Amino acid sequence: MSDRYASFAASGPGRALVKRFGLPQPPRLRRYRAGDSVVPGPVLVGGDGRLSGAIGKVLGSMGVEVRDPSTTPDQMVPGAEGTAPDPERIPLNAALVFDATGITASPGLRALYDFFHPYARALYPCGRVVVLGTAPERCATAPEATAQRALEGFVRSVGKEFGRGTTANLVYASPDADLESTLRFLLSARSAYVSGQVIRVGSGPGTAPANWDKPLADKVALVTGAARGIGTAIARVLTREGAHVVCLDVPAAGEALSTVANELSGTAFQLDLTAADAPARLAEHLQARHGGVDIVVHNAGITRDKTIARMTPELWDPVLDVNLSSQERVNQALLAENLVPRGGRLIGVASIAGIAGNRGQTNYATSKAGVIGLVQSTAPALAEAGITVNAVAPGFIETAMTAKMPMFVREAGRRLNSMNQGGLPIDVAETIAWLANPGSAGVTGNVVRVCGQSLLGA
Ligand code: NAD
Repeated sequence: MSDRYASFAASGPGRALVKRFGLPQPPRLRRYRAGDSVVPGPVLVGGDGRLSGAIGKVLGSMGVEVRDPSTTPDQMVPGAEGTAPDPERIPLNAALVFDATGITASPGLRALYDFFHPYARALYPCGRVVVLGTAPERCATAPEATAQRALEGFVRSVGKEFGRGTTANLVYASPDADLESTLRFLLSARSAYVSGQVIRVGSGPGTAPANWDKPLADKVALVTGAARGIGTAIARVLTREGAHVVCLDVPAAGEALSTVANELSGTAFQLDLTAADAPARLAEHLQARHGGVDIVVHNAGITRDKTIARMTPELWDPVLDVNLSSQERVNQALLAENLVPRGGRLIGVASIAGIAGNRGQTNYATSKAGVIGLVQSTAPALAEAGITVNAVAPGFIETAMTAKMPMFVREAGRRLNSMNQGGLPIDVAETIAWLANPGSAGVTGNVVRVCGQSLLGA
């Protein structure tokens, strides 16, 4: 469904009215197009910690121009030496990256102000801010853990302040974490609707893909609920990244499913995930046709909204079954048959309703919070098998599901986030492609919201 307000606000007369009355101004978000460079301009890197070398290496491999504040001529630093910023001379950057791992106590947080204050207005539209730190639970001392925890408040505020489509995210990186896949995602247009997130990247090297444009070459991916909406976008993006996609949906959606699978030269597999024999039939299909499956995306989901007082078992049961229990059953069946090899990726689709709760959605929010529980409870054991488990939690995404919402609720969903607009299915799909990347081996147990920094559940 089209966002009429955003189109109006971008028109000539609309722009004037929106400015005059201080109404939300949805920026035009930059999204990835084939052939784009990872970052469209220079990246200013600051901070003094254990990751500076790794950051330089990753940015070097992307071929971006790296700037260092200590070598920026004083007269070009906005507001330096007490002078007023000269907009003509401010060196604009596509991204600001700050290594905060060297901050071991709260007074050291001043380094954030020193780095970001002069450059806060010197970012391209749809700029990127990435702060890297040490996860508080891994810090050596209480003062260090305190200071590292404080980074969250800073990053989330920057995400709300900078506007113009800028995203700001925090990466807690373990020693010897392989950061390339995560930095490529967060610095690029692929993360257009991911902001205010805290991502943990664990130790150990990822397997960097031979070709970053086709990182999923030779991989087999299963996408459930692929006949429409977010599922179709996921199937498209995983295909673009090189995977062969098995597109699964209910028999009633068979025609749409075939169209999607044909377009992508993938496989259509009609299956109702709630059928008693569904996990066994799916396992058999993946074994017989592909010898297993590298990437499993549990996207199929339904809503049956009513307040708990009016909820019937007929509304409660299918939502829990499709959205949560079927994910558990499929995972169990595939893992029991050893169909997911080392390097495998299990990716759930949760929702911000599972984080914030939502009126009229006790069943849905329970199921989606359960998806988060599934990630957190299974990630440690599966890490030993070299399999990662993560989830995305979409906010308001423009699909058939959100088009059905009452107008007022829909408008609130669109505007109550830092981007002042709903996300697109491709934003969820790009996030899943990053989690599926062979270079993301250290990214497990994460729940990443694709919500434009929604105020819900913030
Ligand atoms: P959608 O309703 O457009 O598509 C869901 C697909 O799942 C449909 O094709 C449907 O046929 C399939 N499906 C349903 N039950 C199934 C079953 N038993 N077996 C197999 N397939 C089944 O939904 P969407 O908006 O594209 O959402 C996709 C996922 O994202 C869902 O899990 C949803 O909860 C989640 N999500 C969506 C939003 C949003 O704003 N659209 C927000 C948060 C989370």
